[in-house]
This record gives sequence, C-alpha cells and structure tokens, in this order.
Amino acid sequence: MKKEQYLGVSVSPLTYDQIIEDMKQRIKAGEQSTVIAVNPEKVMAARRDPLVKELINNSTYQIADGVGMIIASKLKKGELKERVTGVDMMKRILEMAASENLGVFFYGAKEETVKKAKENLEASIPNLHVAGYENGYVQDQEVLLEKIRQSGAQVIFVALGSPRQELWIRENMPKLPEVKVFQGVGGSFDVYSGNVQRAPEMYRKAGLEWLYRLMKEPKRVKRQMALPKFLAAVVTARGEKR
Ligand code: UDP
Repeated sequence: MKKEQYLGVSVSPLTYDQIIEDMKQRIKAGEQSTVIAVNPEKVMAARRDPLVKELINNSTYQIADGVGMIIASKLKKGELKERVTGVDMMKRILEMAASENLGVFFYGAKEETVKKAKENLEASIPNLHVAGYENGYVQDQEVLLEKIRQSGAQVIFVALGSPRQELWIRENMPKLPEVKVFQGVGGSFDVYSGNVQRAPEMYRKAGLEWLYRLMKEPKRVKRQMALPKFLAAVVTARGEKR
C-alpha cells in the first residue's frame, strides 16, 4: 500500500472513501486492520521513542490528522491533500459497520462519556449495532477481553489516549481474532458524548482547528509547539527519508 514518509514515519495518502473501500476488502479476506492518527506531535514523539515509531509504522492506515501533516506534504511535494481526522474516520467506519451489519464495541473514556457517546451515535446512525462498551478505567483485562468476545463485535474503537491505546491494540489484536478493525480514537468519545466541542466549521475549513483549541485550552501550547519543530525538521531533513 502506498505511503509517504515524514521523518521516518509512514502516512497513508488515502482519502476517507479509499480507506473504507480497502478496509471492506480486508474484512472480506478475513484480515485485521488498524487505524492510527498521525499528527506532528506523534511524529516528534516517534523520533524520540522507537516503540511509538514502530507502533505507527506497523498500522494498516496511518491517517494524516493535523494540518501540520498537510503543510509538510506541500513542502515536500507529497500527495496529502486534506486531513483525515480520527473523529471523522470513526464516523465513516461506524456508517460502514452499520451498512455491512458488523457489531461495534467502544472501549475507553469515563463511564458516563462512553455511554453518552454510544447513545448519541446510535441515535444518529441508522442501523448501527453497538454490541457493547466499557469505560477506560476497568482493571481486569481478562474480563474485558471476554466481554468483547461475547459481544461478537467485529469493529472496536479504543479511547485511552496515546500511545496507551496503540499499545493496547497491539497487545490484544492477536487475542481478538474475530475483531477485524481496530481504531485508536483518543478524545473522540468526548466529542461524540457532547462533552467537548469541535471547532466551528469555519476554523476547520481554514485549517485553524489548532488555533480554536489553543484559545479554549491555552495550556495546549506546550503540545502545539511540536508543529513548528516538526515543520523545521521536515524542511531540514536531507539525509532522513522525507
Ligand atoms: N482515558 C482512559 N483511561 C485512561 C486514561 C485516559 O479511558 O487510563 C481516556 C480519557 O478519559 C479520554 C481519552 O482517554 O477520554 C483520551 O485522552 P487524551 O485526551 O489524553 O488523549 P489524546 O487524544 O490527547 O492522546
């Protein structure tokens, strides 16, 4: 599958539709797929930590979630045209699951958050079958795995924050052979529960979601400093694969 490289980290140039089509083929073939969001913060983390890099590069679809990835692609004459966000990708996968009759499982976030997200999504996506859910603070992993198996879900969304959710997926994929799609979704349950507002469309279209989030949560500035550092590194990286 075609990938672009940013500081040694793979990013998929596929659109939402292309990912869904490819994923459907893989499900038919009985293959498991993983979706992980890549942004400048994660690329910089991957540079420091080989495990994070390996987790990202071993995923099936590394989606370009973050305007920084698009800017980097422009600078390097890559093919990333627009963002593929984790929160929107999740919605597209849910719609695919509903139309293909695949049960879905939500794991992560606080109990009231994951429950509310499930209810809101069931109300907004016709024929969606949520086979089960569990909050992200349960202790007994064996009980959790059995609950997922019993649910019959074939798609699971994991919201534990990064890189915990990716580590969880890697560790548990072989133990859940019936689950065909795993997506690490970070704060998406918080968005679908209504607890966290996304930036208004105007900001999203202009690629300024980061600015909106910065205004809402000024302490994010530390995390957002990854963006200029990332772009500087991409521009100056000559020896490294782009
Ligand atoms: N979370 C969880 N269990 C934990 C730690 C975090 O379920 O032990 C949840 C948290 O409640 C939140 C989600 O993980 O809903 C995403 O956390 P965060 O915003 O830190 O992740 P990011 O997307 O920024 O990596």
